[in-house]
Amino acid sequence: MGRQPMWRRVDFVPPVNYFKPPGVPLSHLKEVCLSVEEVEAVRLKDLEGLELEECAKRMNVSRTTFSRVLGSARQKTADALLNGKAIRIEGGKFEMALRRFRCLNGHEWTVSFETMITVPPRFCPVCHTTSIMPLQPMGMGWQGGSRGRRRGGRWSQAELP
Ligand SMILES: [Zn+2]
Repeated sequence: MGRQPMWRRVDFVPPVNYFKPPGVPLSHLKEVCLSVEEVEAVRLKDLEGLELEECAKRMNVSRTTFSRVLGSARQKTADALLNGKAIRIEGGKFEMALRRFRCLNGHEWTVSFETMITVPPRFCPVCHTTSIMPLQPMGMGWQGGSRGRRRGGRWSQAELP
């Protein structure tokens, strides 16, 4: 039994996940890749202006970890802005603060971050089918919470314990 992964909590996934400087030929274009939680760190600290302590709490990480994630995000963004690189936002190790699920029979329900990281849903609370899938945020090649059975948002049979 290995160490459990630390899931970072994310409230918001940006609707645009690729930024490209105009007029740069593809063969010359370099890109930086920001994870969804790096963007969330920038959002909390730089856009919402929250204190470090509050930011860390919101993302379910220590202040040290939060600072490292934020620093990495700022460094990559600066690299892109100053060196004319494209920015891609994708992937990471996170769970949404709230995640909607839908079952094969059309029932929908919401699962909180705390529930997701302790007991992820295995069946529909209404009809108890195990054919359930998360409704993913729109507009992204979204890889968050990429545990096997939920990859790609396809119908799949939940694994039973
Ligand atoms: Zn159902």
